[in-house]
Amino acid sequence: MCGIIGYVGKRNTSKLLIDGLKKLEYRGYDSAGICILNNNNLTTIKRKGKIKDLEVVEGISKIKGNIGIAHTRWATHGEPSQINAHPHTDSKGEIALVHNGIIENYHSLKELLIQDGYIFTSETDSEILVHLIKKFYMDDLETAVKNALSYVEGTFGIAVLHKNENRIVVARRGSPLIIGIGENEMIFASDAIPIMDYTKRVIYLNDDEMAILSANDFKICKIDGEIVDSEIHEIKWSIDQIEKKGYKHFMLKEIFEQPEAMENVLRGRIKEGKIKLTIDFDVSKLERIVITACGTSWHSALLGKFFIEKHVNIPVEIDYASEYRYRQTIVKDNDLFVVISQSGETADTLAALRKAKADGAKSIGLINVVGSTIAREVDSGIYLHAGPEIGVASTKAFLCQVTALILLGLYIKQEKGEKLDQEILKELFNVPEKIKKCLNLSKEISEIAKNYTHSRNFLYLGRNNNFPVALEGALKLKEISYIHAEGYPAAEMKHGPIALIDEEMPVVFIATNSAILDKVISNMEETRARKGVLITITDNGNEAINRLSDKIISVPRTHEDLSPLINVIPLQLLAYHIADLKDLNVDRPRNLAKSVTVE
Ligand code: GLU
Repeated sequence: MCGIIGYVGKRNTSKLLIDGLKKLEYRGYDSAGICILNNNNLTTIKRKGKIKDLEVVEGISKIKGNIGIAHTRWATHGEPSQINAHPHTDSKGEIALVHNGIIENYHSLKELLIQDGYIFTSETDSEILVHLIKKFYMDDLETAVKNALSYVEGTFGIAVLHKNENRIVVARRGSPLIIGIGENEMIFASDAIPIMDYTKRVIYLNDDEMAILSANDFKICKIDGEIVDSEIHEIKWSIDQIEKKGYKHFMLKEIFEQPEAMENVLRGRIKEGKIKLTIDFDVSKLERIVITACGTSWHSALLGKFFIEKHVNIPVEIDYASEYRYRQTIVKDNDLFVVISQSGETADTLAALRKAKADGAKSIGLINVVGSTIAREVDSGIYLHAGPEIGVASTKAFLCQVTALILLGLYIKQEKGEKLDQEILKELFNVPEKIKKCLNLSKEISEIAKNYTHSRNFLYLGRNNNFPVALEGALKLKEISYIHAEGYPAAEMKHGPIALIDEEMPVVFIATNSAILDKVISNMEETRARKGVLITITDNGNEAINRLSDKIISVPRTHEDLSPLINVIPLQLLAYHIADLKDLNVDRPRNLAKSVTVE
């Protein structure tokens, strides 16, 4: 995710673009840049850091010109740096481009362009677009962009300038772009916020559409050429609503972004039945994997263990990073050390990584924030591409971590020369649709939540790979609702927590289809016999589940080994709605920080 803005008209473009970028900063904030066209000359200024670091660059406010594009980046390919910041330009400085999204086939396109003599300066996937457009440019930017995009796989929202054309060409596939239609001016952006100060009349560009914008005119067409008759809408939302895309809290927005986030973590990483990861060392001889993490990431690590031990047949050990760093640990030659951190700055995880590396471990990081300290220090990495996560309680990053661990496991299996389970590969692509179905349960779950706002304790129970889901469900509730909650393996309940069960105790069971569903049902019977209140997540309408449960949340069925990716969604929603009904600060729960950079 990132923020794009552009303008053509009569105003002071530099100031307008910088003001607009500030409003888009919630979408990405690792580097930023602007490019303004004046008298057949493009002036580009970019900087690593926040918009305020760009704003203070000498001379930036004095750039002349009434047509320009700008970008605030949230890196996916290449660390945050001045060179990798957008806009990107060709070597003669004739074309400038900003891009939001991921170009999946950038590797192969880059090789072809290099053979043709194009010189690359950045590590981004985006830069291929500018050279590709240059390659097709005769004397018409619109045609060049159309031709270039016909070779591109992946997602994009782009805006392009050519030094000899007083217009901006924008296009989208999968990344949002909104065009504001003003009086003798056009302004477009990744969302409506920066547009609203100038006009409320907008066109929402659809996938595979492009727009050609000049001060007094606009044309919308399909990338393949067909003219589109777009409707002009009137913006009615407030700015705060738009930042949260109309959701009441960032956390809810992020819960709802999960189908897209999962598509992003999969994007380009499964092709023709094979896993494509960029891991710089041989993993075919691994004998053990050690994963360290904290909090929610530790739960995804545990899920990784279940998946990898079952499918790859390599022992996996899980450690709390805070413990790993201070205890006597062993690193062997054929070990792989994996660290997981949304921010890539988690202090304990970083310390554990440094310790393992000093002991000779090969390391892989599963990180959301590109260019973060951990991302820089690991030997190889899998970026999560979840987009910025603002809510303190992690949701979409968790889902992407689990997905990335599944990909890592399958990649290791493939490198060992073993056949991959194609059914799982196929089903991974179905999961985002099934998550959408779970999201449709939000209203129903909020009704259920009303019964539990005064509860003091909650128990979450699941077995096998849904035991970590129980832990995660309990953690979400604790974090944002301040209700004490415990997650347990369902059978372990008999060895202690059962003493707590009475008619005051809601017990959330994860009872989706599995080889041991009957055993889970037995644990439900035991809970019921002690008068516990059962809330059951299930994909199975069997008689016993219906009889034993006070509330049932029905989720779509998926492959048993992928079921945590589905089952966690209603648990996030349950925690969210309970906290919201209690009128708590969901996005910033007390005592918690988003990125724990202290011990
Ligand atoms: N993939 C591009 C990059 O890494 C764009 C990322 C974004 O959407 O911010 O620069």
